[in-house]
Amino acid sequence: TREEPNYFGAGPAYLPTEVLQQAAQDLVNYHGANLGIGEISHRDKRAINVVDETKQKFIELYNIPDTHEVLFLQGGGHTGFSSIATNLLANFAKRTGKKGKGAYAVTGSWSAKAVEEAQRLGVDVEVLTNSKEVFGSYTDIQPFSEWKKPNPEETAYVYYCDNETVHGVEFPFIPQFDGIEVAADMSSNILSKQIDISKFGLIFAGAQKNVGLAGVTIYIIKKTLIEQLPEAELRELGIPVTPIAFHYPTAIKQNSLHNTLPIFTVQILNLVLAKLIKDGSLPEQEKRNDRKSSQLYQILDKHADFYNLPVAKGVRSEMNIVFTMKSPELEAKFLKEAEQANLTGLKGHRSVGGLRASLYNAITEKSATLLAEFVDKFATENK
Ligand code: PMP
Repeated sequence: TREEPNYFGAGPAYLPTEVLQQAAQDLVNYHGANLGIGEISHRDKRAINVVDETKQKFIELYNIPDTHEVLFLQGGGHTGFSSIATNLLANFAKRTGKKGKGAYAVTGSWSAKAVEEAQRLGVDVEVLTNSKEVFGSYTDIQPFSEWKKPNPEETAYVYYCDNETVHGVEFPFIPQFDGIEVAADMSSNILSKQIDISKFGLIFAGAQKNVGLAGVTIYIIKKTLIEQLPEAELRELGIPVTPIAFHYPTAIKQNSLHNTLPIFTVQILNLVLAKLIKDGSLPEQEKRNDRKSSQLYQILDKHADFYNLPVAKGVRSEMNIVFTMKSPELEAKFLKEAEQANLTGLKGHRSVGGLRASLYNAITEKSATLLAEFVDKFATENK
């Protein structure tokens, strides 16, 4: 057991103690088998059940229609960057006989990295909007009406990152395009709010921020995006062939078990989702997340002469709250005193500095309130 931390790290992130305790038990002795869930073959019925149950919970929580499949793969978010590009180009080629482009919205460092990875793989990238070019920094999202509009005849997919973890920018809308499916990176806000899955061609998320441990990556994919042109023909079109471990049609055919899935990590996800369902599913989680983040933003805004919030109000993230102060010395003092008050994990990403409070699903309202009170007190004492 442990004393409850108030840990606001951006990921890997805090998970409910009761989930970890149950998982620890399952790791040692799963359902009285004298074997842990991580020691059982991934082909064993018990392991397959863990995969199926977890998938079922995703379907229940998001109300996933049967136009879409749920998959678990390894590789984390970075592998999502490449697997989306190669799989979706191969699907577009099947539908049109052509090598399509990937169209990207660049609204922060993670979508910028997705572009870089696509370019490494030889994808023709079209950038529809780039916040850094429009605003000078990743602090806002250009109105959708001002984005470049991709041509559906030439575009395999549109890619965007729903929540930019480093810059604290979250989409308040879902970009939609006639005749082109949208792929979204939800690594840092998966299951944080209700969404209409039918609006997405693909969603992917590393589990380690909002729903579990590193090692499993969740994919939700529209069935019309699965079929692919044979590999020899892909080569002729200059489309990179997808490594088999990340090949969506194979993963779907094999129920996510083409190669060894980390079943213990999936079991943690399963337990996190069970708790989420028990605690009122997404309608309640969404309300909790709203309350946690608005309380903190309110205090930060109240002290706008002391804290600087770089992100435009309409696109502020509910998950990653980014702020700075007038000097690095003051920020260091904040971090030190926060730590003394048992509030940790608040340092901003090394690429941007400042402070960042990540209020993921598992962060309790009690922890969020303790943080808001500290933020209030620190401003009053140091103005
Ligand atoms: N996308 C987003 C939005 C992220 O926050 C991260 C990780 N911080 C990644 C992708 C990359 O994930 P991974 O480290 O699992 O490759």
